[in-house]
Amino acid sequence: MNWNDVLKYAKNNPAPDRRVERSDEEWKKLLTPEEFHITRKKGTERPFTGEYCEAHEPGLYACRCCGTPLFDSGQKFESGTGWPSFTESVKDNVIKYEKDTSFGMTRVEVMCNVCDCHLGHVFPDGPPPSGLRFCINSASIKLIG
Ligand code: FE
Repeated sequence: MNWNDVLKYAKNNPAPDRRVERSDEEWKKLLTPEEFHITRKKGTERPFTGEYCEAHEPGLYACRCCGTPLFDSGQKFESGTGWPSFTESVKDNVIKYEKDTSFGMTRVEVMCNVCDCHLGHVFPDGPPPSGLRFCINSASIKLIG
């Protein structure tokens, strides 16, 4: 997976293995107000404040909303940005890519492909071999064993 794949997927996302769909009211019952704002309303946590910014424990990071494994701690790297950063996802079809032109910038938003949880953005300035930097809100993921 590289930046060309990201651009390709942003036009035509891979099909997920399953789908989880809930109303905002249902999500509100399952999430804290901050988690709801970030995951369901495309919010961004302040840099250097998230619980996984400095985390090095081994394990899988799952979607905070639906529990789908998204990232492996082995792909986590120190980006210096203040947000947990990964070079790749555990599987191509767990991430949904969408072109985001908000705030006068052209970026690629990443979401959980199962439940549409907003995760963050992906940039083409990560370490090899993928060259990708998935910049993810701690509030959107949960470290599982
Ligand atoms: Fe999800």
